[in-house]
Amino acid sequence: ALRPSSRALGALSGLSLRSLSTLVLAEHKGGALQPSTLHTVAAAAQLGGPLTLLVAGDASSAGAAAQAASRVAGVAAVLAAEDPCLAHGLAEPAAALLAAVERKRDFSHVLAASSSYGRNVLPRAAALLDVQAVADVSQVLDPSTFLRPIYAGNALATVRALGQGPRLLTVRTTAFAPAPASGGSAPVEAVAGEELAAAQQAAGGSEWVGEDVRKSDRPELAQARVVVAGGRALKSADNFRTLLGALADRLGGAVGASRAAVDAGYAPNDLQVGQTGKVVAPDLYIAVGISGAIQHVAGMSSSKVIVAINSDGEAPIYQVADYGLVGDLFKILPELEAELAKL
Ligand code: FAD
Repeated sequence: ALRPSSRALGALSGLSLRSLSTLVLAEHKGGALQPSTLHTVAAAAQLGGPLTLLVAGDASSAGAAAQAASRVAGVAAVLAAEDPCLAHGLAEPAAALLAAVERKRDFSHVLAASSSYGRNVLPRAAALLDVQAVADVSQVLDPSTFLRPIYAGNALATVRALGQGPRLLTVRTTAFAPAPASGGSAPVEAVAGEELAAAQQAAGGSEWVGEDVRKSDRPELAQARVVVAGGRALKSADNFRTLLGALADRLGGAVGASRAAVDAGYAPNDLQVGQTGKVVAPDLYIAVGISGAIQHVAGMSSSKVIVAINSDGEAPIYQVADYGLVGDLFKILPELEAELAKL
């Protein structure tokens, strides 16, 4: 699955005179490579051609992230850009860097994860390069043609990038199994000169003031194998914490929320699942007191097994659920928790 098909190689359309080569913008936190990068590398591998990872950070993070990047299977080269202006992932310097690296090295494709970081940086780089980016790619059909979900996942659009310019894509990470984090030994090259200068010149358009990072012992929502999500029917932040939290902890899972639950203040914004929240694809998704509006389903319909707990047997969530428990969540959740405690 990680090799370009002959169809892919035969259908270069606007790219016919370019040889295939892909640059992936890596995402890391304090030097630790984020899983989204591994999913994006897997998408890049489907394009064919050598694959280069670009790591941007300051002295405390770029080196460690570059080492981790060089171990990713299938990566041919790592570019490490180290500068104080790249410390916090601000979009302006990162986009200027990405565009400058592309201008100098002429990759046929530039990819980033469709995460808040990738969505912030890549379209700016596309504007600097004067090409149209393709967002949220879920399948590579050939080097210029891609599938992407539209209308909150209710339809798939086939999009063809035209012209001779590079293809800039953001990638829906849940659609691509991650590349192995180890097995590679790519050389690391430091980015300097005009490429780094471009980032430095763009710095100042924005300023990093601080961050409020929520600490949790639970797995991260986007990566969790089990997600227990609650809706408006939970009625309070307390119920969210105790009832839903207890079930999530029992299953070693993350807690998610519908937008109605977030808007009501029952759950923090970063737990929202859906079109305007996170897209998740865990092995098990338990939707508790969630009606199943299309905007919510857009964020969880790729889950392997979906369980719905809802008092309304006609709720739309049952159209996507593999298993349903029709009943009152305030009765079912404690019973479920008690049964799981016996295991
Ligand atoms: P409700 O629709 O009110 O459903 C509550 C459900 O709980 C009902 O089905 C009810 O039968 C059930 N229930 C009630 N009491 C009990 C009980 N005691 N036991 C069991 N079940 C019970 N929504 C998202 O989730 N994510 C998004 O990213 C998102 N993006 C949006 C973007 C746009 C542009 C728009 C317009 C909307 C978006 N929405 C999103 C909102 C979405 O349309 C719905 O309004 C929202 O998902 C509803 O949340 P809910 O299911 O928790 O609440």
